[in-house]
Amino acid sequence: MRIDIITIFPDYFAPLELSLIGKARAAGILDIRLHDLRSWTHDRHNTVDDTPYGGGPGMVMKPEPWGEALDAVAGAPEPGGAAGPGAVPRLVVPTPSGTPFTQERAKRLSEEPWLVFACGRYEGIDSRVAADAARRMPVEEVSIGDYVLAGGESATLVIVETVSRLLPGVLGNAESAVQDSFAAGAMENLLEGPVFTKPARWRDLEVPPVLLSGDHGAVDRWRRHEALRKTARNRPELLRALAEGGMAGLDRTD
Ligand code: SAM
Repeated sequence: MRIDIITIFPDYFAPLELSLIGKARAAGILDIRLHDLRSWTHDRHNTVDDTPYGGGPGMVMKPEPWGEALDAVAGAPEPGGAAGPGAVPRLVVPTPSGTPFTQERAKRLSEEPWLVFACGRYEGIDSRVAADAARRMPVEEVSIGDYVLAGGESATLVIVETVSRLLPGVLGNAESAVQDSFAAGAMENLLEGPVFTKPARWRDLEVPPVLLSGDHGAVDRWRRHEALRKTARNRPELLRALAEGGMAGLDRTD
């Protein structure tokens, strides 16, 4: 997968050199390219923002550098590049006014050959930028939660990390993603229950005996029961949604 990130703070993305994503980049599974929006400015101060039309506080990111940046980055795919010949990128615009980012959405994005992220700052990006881009490529406005960050960089890190670990070959054990909270399939949108490792007894606290029993059926039933309990405690609305969906996940014990 190819990922391009356009930002005024390329240094913000140093963590993408580390851990699973760093390894996936080194292995050629992920081709991540960072672009400084200011390289598409033409004034002495490399200005990327201006006052909002209609008045109000704060500044808005100017359309011209964004338009040029997207033309340059997403305009023409390289033949033989990581995204593949003829690929059209999907533009992801993190914004608190976007539609929610979920595990299901991450899965869908992980199936794209090429994503481009536009990291907003200030009061956001002039709305014509997304409208113009949408004439050439699919555009998604994505919110990572009901709160307001200072910029789209941290939201992009969240999305890139979530999407990347779903790519084949990125996780050491692909089964981990299947067992995760929210994963489709076994967990049916439940939260993952408690997890333990050795030693079996630590500071007077015991690992639940069923996990030491070697009885895989019993372990699966216990995990499902604990997942339901944790979901009921921390996210009861998820259980209600499951119940409204026909009790599909609630009546399965094996
Ligand atoms: N005025 C904007 C609003 O109320 O919708 C908030 C702008 S915010 C200060 C600056 C940038 O941070 C946004 O353009 C976006 O890139 C990013 N951002 C802030 N909160 C976010 C969230 N919950 N999800 C995704 N991106 C977010």
